Amino acid sequence: MGDETDIGFMRQAIALAQEAKDKPGTSPIGCVIVLDGRVVGQAHNEVGMRHDPSAHAEIVAIRRACESLGRDELRGATLYSTLQPCGMCSMASIWTSIRRIVYGAARPHVHRMYFEDRHLDVLDIIDDAFRNDMSAEGGVLAEECAVFYYKPDDEPPSEQQANT
Ligand SMILES: [Zn+2]
Repeated sequence: MGDETDIGFMRQAIALAQEAKDKPGTSPIGCVIVLDGRVVGQAHNEVGMRHDPSAHAEIVAIRRACESLGRDELRGATLYSTLQPCGMCSMASIWTSIRRIVYGAARPHVHRMYFEDRHLDVLDIIDDAFRNDMSAEGGVLAEECAVFYYKPDDEPPSEQQANT
């Protein structure tokens, strides 16, 4: 799934996730934000590094993009994430006026620890938004993204699990 452009930017997100693997206080989730064909913000998850539970890759990338452009929104941008965004990041994307969310590994392929709720997912949040110019697409390089995450039936160490 995904055209060549999507695949190229997802590879950049994967590289960020890879980078996080050896960095204490981070998690291997990578995010790249693209506006008018160029990367305007990128990040991996920095929750442990910043002691900030909201420092998901998507949130950090949005903050960096807005700061570097001196803007309060990123109308028309595409957000690429190696993992299906959680509710917080999906909602932040709506507030940021992001037009497309493209993600790799999808919720059914990973452990529930990566999500804060039982059922609600990014598609529901976008469908329920007031905006009608927004879309989400999953499964771009899904297998390459999924290697970073615990599978649904894995038993991750309890200190890594936020929502048990
Ligand atoms: Zn998130």
